[in-house]
Amino acid sequence: MAAPSRAGQPLETGFECASLFEALPDAVLVVSDAGVISHVNAAAERLFGYERHQLVGQDYRMVLAEGYRNGFDRLLAKLRRARVPGSDDTALDPFESYGLRSDGTEFQGEVACSLLHSDRGTSVVASVRATTHRQESDAGLREAMSLLSATLESTADGILVVGSDGNIAGLNDQFTSMWGIPRELLAMHDDAALMGYVLGQLSDPASFLEKVQELYADPTAESHDVLDFIDGRTFERYSRPQKVGDTVVGRVWSFRDVTPRRRAQEQAKQAMAELAEQAAQLKAMAFQDPLTGLANRKLFHDQLTEALHGDCSAAVDVLLLDLDDFKEVNDILGHHAGDQMLVEVARRLRSCVRPNDTVARLGGDEFVVLLTGSTDAEIVAERIVESLNVPVWIEGSMLRPSLSLGLASMNEDALAASELLRRADVAMYAAKAAGKNRYMRFQPEMMTALVQRTDMEAGLRLAVDDGEITVNFQPIVSPRLGEVTQFEALARWDRDGERIPPSQFIPTAERSGLISTMGMHMMRESFTQLRPWLAGSMERSVAVNVSGVQLRERDFADSVLHLAESCGMDLRQLVLEVTESVFLDPDAHVTRQLESLRHAGARVALDDFGTGYSSLGRLQDLPVDAVKIDQSFISMVRTGAEKLPILSSMINMAHSLGLRVTAEGVETAAQAAYLTDMQCDSLQGYLFSHPEPESGLELAILRSADAIDALEELRLKR
Ligand code: C2E
Ligand code: CA
Ligand code: CA
Repeated sequence: MAAPSRAGQPLETGFECASLFEALPDAVLVVSDAGVISHVNAAAERLFGYERHQLVGQDYRMVLAEGYRNGFDRLLAKLRRARVPGSDDTALDPFESYGLRSDGTEFQGEVACSLLHSDRGTSVVASVRATTHRQESDAGLREAMSLLSATLESTADGILVVGSDGNIAGLNDQFTSMWGIPRELLAMHDDAALMGYVLGQLSDPASFLEKVQELYADPTAESHDVLDFIDGRTFERYSRPQKVGDTVVGRVWSFRDVTPRRRAQEQAKQAMAELAEQAAQLKAMAFQDPLTGLANRKLFHDQLTEALHGDCSAAVDVLLLDLDDFKEVNDILGHHAGDQMLVEVARRLRSCVRPNDTVARLGGDEFVVLLTGSTDAEIVAERIVESLNVPVWIEGSMLRPSLSLGLASMNEDALAASELLRRADVAMYAAKAAGKNRYMRFQPEMMTALVQRTDMEAGLRLAVDDGEITVNFQPIVSPRLGEVTQFEALARWDRDGERIPPSQFIPTAERSGLISTMGMHMMRESFTQLRPWLAGSMERSVAVNVSGVQLRERDFADSVLHLAESCGMDLRQLVLEVTESVFLDPDAHVTRQLESLRHAGARVALDDFGTGYSSLGRLQDLPVDAVKIDQSFISMVRTGAEKLPILSSMINMAHSLGLRVTAEGVETAAQAAYLTDMQCDSLQGYLFSHPEPESGLELAILRSADAIDALEELRLKR
């Protein structure tokens, strides 16, 4: 802009103002208050193509292109109104306009104005510079600008440009619509209000502001972050400096609505998480017992193998256990109760071990515990046996789970997993054979016992064929009649001069099915050997033990009928002793055989009554004629003075159902007297006689008679 000075005065540089005015490269016109040109310089003559005298004294509008004159008028008016001597406020920013030359051509130029105050009033000094030389580059610029603004308006991003002064320098439509900024708010040009409007939509306005401040503190920084909206939308925010050349003149903010992308990502993430969970469930199922939630066989094997390959100095113990007589729970109370019992057992097992010990269910009622680094596995085994034997109520019945546990540990000689488990299995069988409800640690001798068991089966097969199985008879006395009224036939096996106990060979015979042949052999021998004694009175009878395995044979009843007939035996003198478990067989055929034999005159006695899971309540439903109270109840009688309500209720209950009662294992006179007082019908036990072979029967009868006499004396004395 030109800075006119008082004409004729030398400047500090030594030039005269007038000559400087003349030498100015821009055209300068001084226009009076009335709009009349008062001064022009040489550049003005050249630019407009007039002589100086043609311009001075003329209306200034002669040098302005049609259409630009009025605007200029308004500007002049404004300038005049704002005249304050010496104030810069009167200066206007340069602006574009069109000039008119003497030859009628127009040109584009840039005009800058200021006020000149003098004695003659206030004039406007206008300096004009043609911008024709810029036109070419301007066209390029305009094109670039239009391209830029088209791009800005068509982009999906919202863009905001803020100048270095902090004022908004520009924004696109997308910005206002993304942020939902009302037109009125924009029109107010109130940046603080705009900022408030923006912040109000964000979940975390504080961190938004923090970021803004951080960036204004470092004008060259770039940033990229994510904004979360209260309404659930998500924007990405990108900010970079706006530069002209190397100078930072502001900051560009661009916002992109990534809500759909974010949602899609979240959905994908969710789907992935669900898949992962399903996979985890499937994996758990592959390693978990669904009923108890314990580890399954597969997981146990993995853990055991891992333990065996681990630190050699750490102890590894395997405790294999199997519930005693679990089949009966299932049979009597149903599978649902059986399941509940297994769940309870699992719970108790878990509570007996440390959290990182493995407890697995191998199947059925078989469980296994793996202890690693345990200092005393036997204490754990003992705790398990004890804690399992605590009564539990299941579906209204009180059950007392018991188990047999085999313990095997890794010792100096490294063992394979399968070998360790086999040893635990052998020990578990030993625990069962030793009477159940206990634990046993594996001993090498047990292997010999195992070998013996397999050997026993082979031996037993030969024994049946070779007649090594013989029968002994044990008298059963009637205190009322004062004589022996029955003999129970008991199998005996003498193997190479050694007597094998029935508790060992009967289970083997049952497992191998040999019991059927053996049972018929026992029956035939009993019928034949007792025929003379039985013939003495119809009150006399023979009791034969019958296993459930025999009853499952289709022709059992027929064979018995056939045998009795061929031996000339009256079926009314036969008693079949069965245990309660035979009535639990789902095959109705088993019970039907017993019923048809009863129909033919034979009687059925319930052996070992009161043991296992039998209940008094079920007695009335069973097709039996008598019960034999198990020895474990009889042995409760010690002095004969004690009150044993369980025993009396057993006897009374049986009598009320019309059943006869035999007491087994009577060893003392006190027991015999006690039972007789309780109206027990028959007594059996060593007090009267041990089981004897046929040759010893006469003696057995005599001894029994003596014992009965002694019993009578005792009762009379009391
Ligand atoms: P069980 O049927 O309960 O037979 C009674 C058992 O008690 C017999 O044992 C008998 O010797 C024993 N005993 C009798 N009186 C006394 C006593 O006062 N005190 C003691 N402590 N015991 C006494 P045994 O002969 O060893 O037979 C055991 C089991 O083997 C029998 O128990 C029975 O279940 C089974 N058994 C024996 N022979 C046969 C058979 O021929 N067939 C079948 N299926 N099982 C048989
Ligand atoms: Ca018996
Ligand atoms: Ca018995």
